[in-house]
Amino acid sequence: NSQLNSSYNFDNYIEGDCNRLARSAGYAVATKPGTTSFNPLMVYGGVGLGKTHLVHAIGNHIKSTWPEKFVLYVSSEKFVNQFIESLKTNTVQDFANFYLLVDILIIDDVQFLSGKEKTQEMFFHIFNHLHQSGKQIVMTSDCAPPKLKGLEERLLSRFKWGLTADLQSPDFETRMAIIQKKMQADGIDIPNNVIEYLAYSVDTNVRELEGVLISLIAQSSLNRKEIDLELAKNALKHIIEDVETEVNLDFIQKTVAEYFDVTLDSLKAKTRKKEIVTARQVAMYFAKEFTSHSLKSIGYHFGGRDHSTVIHSVQTVSDLVDTDKKFKASIQELQKKFKVKTG
Ligand code: ADP
Ligand code: MG
Repeated sequence: NSQLNSSYNFDNYIEGDCNRLARSAGYAVATKPGTTSFNPLMVYGGVGLGKTHLVHAIGNHIKSTWPEKFVLYVSSEKFVNQFIESLKTNTVQDFANFYLLVDILIIDDVQFLSGKEKTQEMFFHIFNHLHQSGKQIVMTSDCAPPKLKGLEERLLSRFKWGLTADLQSPDFETRMAIIQKKMQADGIDIPNNVIEYLAYSVDTNVRELEGVLISLIAQSSLNRKEIDLELAKNALKHIIEDVETEVNLDFIQKTVAEYFDVTLDSLKAKTRKKEIVTARQVAMYFAKEFTSHSLKSIGYHFGGRDHSTVIHSVQTVSDLVDTDKKFKASIQELQKKFKVKTG
């Protein structure tokens, strides 16, 4: 039993700038295990970014090409527990022998080995043996190897023999593609504006994005309602902390537009009229201060502006607050409206 999850494959692993190197190195390893220079292959990245999915995809691909190969997926936690158990029952040799038989060893979350010296010693031994015999080793970790505290230097230096590739947070386009793919796989219709809304709102990691989709599907079937923006906003509330208590961006935009006596639409339009530019910058400033939207998302809600425009706006407003007393008073007045709402 290889412990592989067959639902994680390359077909459903969306490629994007955030994972291109790791994915292609993974694919190379999957088609030529043990014979590329990517041995070991070390994939690292934060939680929910697709490490486990990718390494299962590698294992599944190898297994489907070479059914006779012994591919083993093991979490580091399980590895540690098995090892401890073998110490207790005096079966350490059996433990070692088992791992020495593996053709492709996939070991997930090696940061978990940190501080566990005896287990690391055993892993070092297994690693050396497999590597020398041309067996493929694939590992994941939640941070870059040099930052792996509590791991022996000799082990870390082995990790550098192959290729280390990182996974970044998915960019907007990749998030869109992931949502599309997942909904398609489940045979669920989802309007484009909802996909965009979700892709902009959930910019942390893929697992969280999936959580929102699951909640969205559940609500849709519970309420016997087609998926729409309203439902999507509701689904977000369940997953993302503070979304309820947070002042929302629409409210900020409306309030600021009213205060400066400009239309809501003008905040999102291209116009460079001075009053409008000021109102827009102030609204961005408050969006940054009072919502958890990313700079990119804020830009999007202001007519698809760049995140650097948002940074510039926030800076401009801060500078004005420092230098212009009258302006500062307006900002303070506005701030009260948002603070009350958050409180
Ligand atoms: P990690 O191990 O880094 O914490 P996982 O591999 O468990 O992350 O990924 C979390 C979820 O996100 C999984 O359900 C996985 O299928 C999905 N996922 C991550 N990256 C992608 C991607 N590029 N394409 C499709 N699904 C992805
Ligand atoms: Mg994982």
